Amino acid sequence: MKTCRTEHELRTLLRVERSAGRSIGFVPTMGALHDGHLSLIGAARQDCDVVVLSIFVNPLQFGPGEDFGAYPRDEERDLRLADQAGVDIVFLPSVEEMYPSDRATTVSFSGISEVLEGASRPGHFDGVCTVVAKLLNQTSADYAYFGQKDAQQVAVVKRMAQDLSIQTDIVVCPIVREPDGLALSSRNAYLDAGQRKAATSLSRSLQAGAEVIRNGGSPEDAEAAMALLLGDRADVELDYAAAVDPSTFSKPGPGGSVLLAVAARVGPARLIDNLLIEAKRT
Ligand code: AMP
Repeated sequence: MKTCRTEHELRTLLRVERSAGRSIGFVPTMGALHDGHLSLIGAARQDCDVVVLSIFVNPLQFGPGEDFGAYPRDEERDLRLADQAGVDIVFLPSVEEMYPSDRATTVSFSGISEVLEGASRPGHFDGVCTVVAKLLNQTSADYAYFGQKDAQQVAVVKRMAQDLSIQTDIVVCPIVREPDGLALSSRNAYLDAGQRKAATSLSRSLQAGAEVIRNGGSPEDAEAAMALLLGDRADVELDYAAAVDPSTFSKPGPGGSVLLAVAARVGPARLIDNLLIEAKRT
């Protein structure tokens, strides 16, 4: 496994691979790797000749007062896990490498970036789009792998890739969960034992919402069921519990797919989770 820290080094390494006709799969992450990240690497490993992993805690996608400074960073452990998972090239740029002080361009995304995560975290998706557009240009990957865990990010990135004529195919991989249902997240590291237990209420609320939809209930009924379950606990502070169309993030149409999405603060961690279901309505 090779590591590089500059765009120039990355491009030099990738030029060799591309001229040998090898396909390139790219997995962008912020590090603190867990089995969710490793599942994306595994998918890239299956599909592509060369797997590139980036580890970059992107300051542009954190708002003021969010956890940019506290975000878990452990480069040595990440490199070990990446190597074991079969990554060929790890790209570890510094903030200055990605964003020189004279940077003048930000990718601005409208529409679905303004609801749910976008409403709670103003500017978040502009930060995501700016870094993802840059990383996709730096790697010129054939495929890039994203987790359904960040469902709104997936919708935003797919739309951006289409709007900006980015050639890379966006591949979406399923959410990896702990046996008790908690979706894996680097932010789970912030939780103590009690909070860790409380955090399972996110996935349980999604199950409760899914039950409502499957029994013919409305999106509003599902939202109420999810909010009830999450609002029930003193140690969980509900941000939103929503039932939306998975592509537009607006009210789901009758008979269409429904994305149940929740966000809540559990102790020091702001956690998100979601569940995609086909609504069966009569
Ligand atoms: P992050 O390092 O949190 O920015 O995540 C990097 C990528 O891993 C994103 O595409 C996430 O959606 C994905 N990811 C994070 N957690 C999970 C999970 N539990 N299951 C599947 N993918 C995940």
